[in-house]
Amino acid sequence: MPVVLTHMSLAKKRLRSRLVPIAVVALAACLVGPRVDATPSLQALGKTIATTQAAAVTPGAAAGYIARTLHHPVPGGVAVVPLGRSAQPPSVSYDGAPVMVVKDSDGEWIAVAGIDLKAAAGRHELQVRSGGQVQKLSFDVGTKEYASQHIKLKNQSHVTPNPDQLERYRREHAEQMEAYARFRPVGPSNVLLDAPVKGRTSSPFGLRRFFNGEERNAHSGLDFAVPKGTPIQAPANGVVTIVGDYFFNGRTVFIDHGQGFITMYCHLDSISVQKGQEVKRGDVIGKVGATGRATGPHLHWNVSLNGNRVDPAIFLGK
Ligand SMILES: [Zn+2]
Repeated sequence: MPVVLTHMSLAKKRLRSRLVPIAVVALAACLVGPRVDATPSLQALGKTIATTQAAAVTPGAAAGYIARTLHHPVPGGVAVVPLGRSAQPPSVSYDGAPVMVVKDSDGEWIAVAGIDLKAAAGRHELQVRSGGQVQKLSFDVGTKEYASQHIKLKNQSHVTPNPDQLERYRREHAEQMEAYARFRPVGPSNVLLDAPVKGRTSSPFGLRRFFNGEERNAHSGLDFAVPKGTPIQAPANGVVTIVGDYFFNGRTVFIDHGQGFITMYCHLDSISVQKGQEVKRGDVIGKVGATGRATGPHLHWNVSLNGNRVDPAIFLGK
């Protein structure tokens, strides 16, 4: 079933040329990168933190269940960095944004950092603040080839928004970026997520899109090809931070799960929660639709960590 998707992650400077409906043929392949299995050898990281000031330290691999599931250090992926077993969790930032810190199944604190899809491969650094000291811990970001999709458009001009629509888009985009940037100190109820709908996935995260030969923004989330009216369930506890009706995304809900872990649901037919409402894992937040710039019903689902949209499939253990 061909569906049309549009997304909010459009750079303003290229907006005019990007406002195009996207005819997407459902893809079978889910393109999560090769799993990087954690090794059982843990460095005595607490000691390293206490004695190293200048250079960034490359920690050993974290070995707990969350780390083994989520660690996909590629652009659009997640880096899990072990932080030791201090009584209090360190506070961590990456590219100036606070990073989620949780305790893994083996009792170790871990930083769970989202990596920008446009991040360069190579060494990246976390700033780690613990016990009055600030240290740098590094991790390596690998490469990943996301699939490409070439789409021919007959009429590109009729989807160029008028000035009013452009102004509306800019306002809505800023509102959503602000919601993604929030950081509530409370940790999430669960870091590994339930699928928000029951049904097959279609367009994967990261899909590179070319329109009439020109590359446009990559796909910022994961699509589920499910019928209109399919109930959407919160994949973890959280607070609803946006209930919107947007130019591109249609009826949209944002859930803030804590510590910068944010999920977004768009093109909804109806919404059954209100801004500020607390939701529990499994609560129905709305129903699948085709509102906004979508020609067919589907759920577009974004997952964001420290302000970066990352591959939702990782959080489903895929
Ligand atoms: Zn989508």
